[in-house]
Amino acid sequence: MTTTHYEAVPEVASDAQARGRDLVVMKFGGSSVGDTQKIKDVAHRLVAAREAGYRVVGVLSAMGHTTDELIRLAREVSARPNPREYDMLVSTGERISNALCAMAIYDLGHEAVSLTGSQAGIVTDTVHGKAKIAEVRGQRINDALDDEKIVLVAGFQGVSSANEVTTLGRGGSDMTAAALAAALGATVCEIYTDVEGVFTADPRIVPNARKLKALTYEEMLELAASGAKVLQLRSVEFARNHDVRLHVRSTFSQAEGTWIVDEEDPVLEKAIISGVAHTDCEPLFRAREIDAAKLFAQLAGVSVNVDTILQVSSDEIVFSAPLEDRETCEQLLGSLGIEWSMRDDLGKVSLIGAGMKSHPGIAAKTFATLEGIGVESKVISTSPIKIACHVATADVSRSVAALHDAFELETA
Ligand code: ASP
Ligand code: MG
Repeated sequence: MTTTHYEAVPEVASDAQARGRDLVVMKFGGSSVGDTQKIKDVAHRLVAAREAGYRVVGVLSAMGHTTDELIRLAREVSARPNPREYDMLVSTGERISNALCAMAIYDLGHEAVSLTGSQAGIVTDTVHGKAKIAEVRGQRINDALDDEKIVLVAGFQGVSSANEVTTLGRGGSDMTAAALAAALGATVCEIYTDVEGVFTADPRIVPNARKLKALTYEEMLELAASGAKVLQLRSVEFARNHDVRLHVRSTFSQAEGTWIVDEEDPVLEKAIISGVAHTDCEPLFRAREIDAAKLFAQLAGVSVNVDTILQVSSDEIVFSAPLEDRETCEQLLGSLGIEWSMRDDLGKVSLIGAGMKSHPGIAAKTFATLEGIGVESKVISTSPIKIACHVATADVSRSVAALHDAFELETA
């Protein structure tokens, strides 16, 4: 198995500017292509960009809950689906939506071509289900763009160095879009979704949450890692490493969304706190009689993204991992012959803001706010721009609301 630890600078197959027109990558999520009418609407939007003079690459997710449905089918057939066949199966959802959209574009009087990840030249490592992009060979896309076509690329997938179909992890169409934007030299990577942008908190929990005009990559990374579902974490990391400006916006309106940019970018508002993210459940594992180096090497070996880590005593370690990695962690810990346990009755509330770096007192106010509503924080972790507290799942919503209120995020 070959593993790519760092998603390398993709080859810039051609200089977009030298080709005379700006290139945009426009990515549409599952809810934006939920039915055939919506796919026709997306076709209109792509054609409008083309008619405005852009070279257009569209990246569509699978329709609605297609990917969930495919995974359900796999699980019905097998408790542990063969990884290669799993990727063969789940990659099909994106072929459907992109091919349908290409047909709709023809009916609007434009030419289009839909490509699988493999046809689009997205080369990955061989880690099925969670592959990393090793290289983008942009020639075929550039040729099609030169032929005046709107190019549609099936998101979430590539071809491995062993010539197998791979997928890029859940939410991986964002990664496809960011990688293509970097490799093809796009002016902007637009992420179209069913919300207006990135908000100061989940509007379902905090009705007066505010849409943010702009965020730094670091803030967006922390938000995505802390439960904000609007962008896949890896795609933000990649965009930062390759200077891709991201614009998260609504499929259903023309309004400006949220820009994700470099710290120096003039669009930033320089707020102290940008938002509160949450997850309802983040499993917490406790392991004994194993040293940290060995444990985390094993977890890395099975591609688990560990979040919080606490060395409780010389022979006891506590760590958290995303819910999707829970089974993998349990299997691994079970195989090590050590004493371990897991609890899944906690969620996590995270306060994030680049201004935290230079403003003392944020932690004090966070703890005072939680204490004030009688919420006990079981585990606390921080970064220079984040304070995260594990709290009981039942307390997550009111903790988010209280922090949003205490830091006056609705008016910032
Ligand atoms: N369809 C894939 C998923 O649901 C990829 C994506 O939508 O980004 O995870
Ligand atoms: Mg998504």
